[in-house]
This record gives sequence, structure tokens and C-alpha cells, in this order.
Amino acid sequence: MFPRFLRLFGLKLLLLSIALAATASSELDWLQSIERRHLPLKNSKARDPGVEVDTILIHFCSDVVAHPDNPYDFKRIFNGFIIGRVSAHYLIDRSGKIFEMVELDRAAWHAGKGKVPGKPERENRLNEFSVGIELMGMGNLNEMLRFMPEDRFSKVKPDDIGYTKFQYESLRKLISALRQKYPAIKLDNQHIYGHDQYAPGRKNDPGVLFEWSEIGVTKNW
Ligand SMILES: [Zn+2]
Repeated sequence: MFPRFLRLFGLKLLLLSIALAATASSELDWLQSIERRHLPLKNSKARDPGVEVDTILIHFCSDVVAHPDNPYDFKRIFNGFIIGRVSAHYLIDRSGKIFEMVELDRAAWHAGKGKVPGKPERENRLNEFSVGIELMGMGNLNEMLRFMPEDRFSKVKPDDIGYTKFQYESLRKLISALRQKYPAIKLDNQHIYGHDQYAPGRKNDPGVLFEWSEIGVTKNW
């Protein structure tokens, strides 16, 4: 017979592993339950066979150039993806609501041209390896001047600049669930990074207002 404390310890371990397994499966169920607003299939492609998804790329999007006073209308933003023939797997609105726009087994068109230090196979091919997440958000004046003049940007309400705490909450939950599905995605800046890191100069999202510490990642390149 095992000593009583060892039996209790074993029971605790068993219960812990059951609890962890339940969390894992409930996170995958939750991923399945995200509201679908799928873009047309011509906005994405089947993933190349044999490629392991190990990266999350973070973006911002808005309709601020045309509507600085109302930059986060879902329909206009969604149509912008269709017209631009681009896509991302997820869109998180200002209230933290998450929409799935592309199924995870397809490569969305969000990364474009860029490169990752030390990973030449990613050059201009990151879509194959990644999940794209768009946050309805925008950068500061300095970052937005490339899209619009200062007097237009001055019409933006201060609360519409940057990101909301609801978005960070949802993003944390989404990243956790995606890491259950794709264990190769580690919680670090080598696996979770910004479009501005992948394509510096060409892209500046999510920009300086995005708080990496909110998702437990230290930006280090
Ligand atoms: Zn982007």
C-alpha cells in the first residue's frame, strides 16, 4: 500500500490533470463557438500541406481615413477586406467581441511581404505559418499621418485611438485557445508579433499604443 500522503498526492495530480484536460477541451470548444462572419473564399487560400502553424500576427484596422468621427463600423471594415482582397482569421471589435472571418485551416492574406530574423523560410510567406488577428484600433497621430492629414485625424475621438481593455481581455483568451490548438505557438515575441515587426517601414500596426505586456509578451525585436 502507498502511504496515505502519496495516495492523496496522486489523487491531486489526477484531479489536476483532469482539470487541465477539461480546460484544454473547453478552450477548443470556445474557439468553435466564436461568431462566424466569413469573408468570401477568394479572400484566402488552403494552407500549404505540411506547414505547422506556430505564429500569431497582430494588426490594427479601421475606417478612419473615410470616417474619422466613426471609424469602427463593422460592415464598412468587413467590406474593406472584401474590396481589398485581404483577410485575417479574427477581428476583435472595440467591445471585445470576436468574429471569425477565415477558418483556421486556411491561410488568410494579412502578412504580405516581410521577413523574420533567423527564419528565411518565412520571407514573404508568413501567411502559411500564421493566424492573423485584427483589432479594431489605430495608432497615434504620428503613425496615422501616413494615411491622413492632421486636420482629419483631429476629428477622431480620443477614446477611438489605441485599444480597449475589452480587446486585451478577448485577445488574451483567444491567444490561450489558439495555443491549445497549435502548441507550437509559444507565448513570446518569436511566435506572437506585430505586422510592424514583420514589415517595418511598410506597415506600422499595431504600433506604439499596443501594450504587449497586456498579453504577457515582451517585445524584443
Ligand atoms: Zn496589418
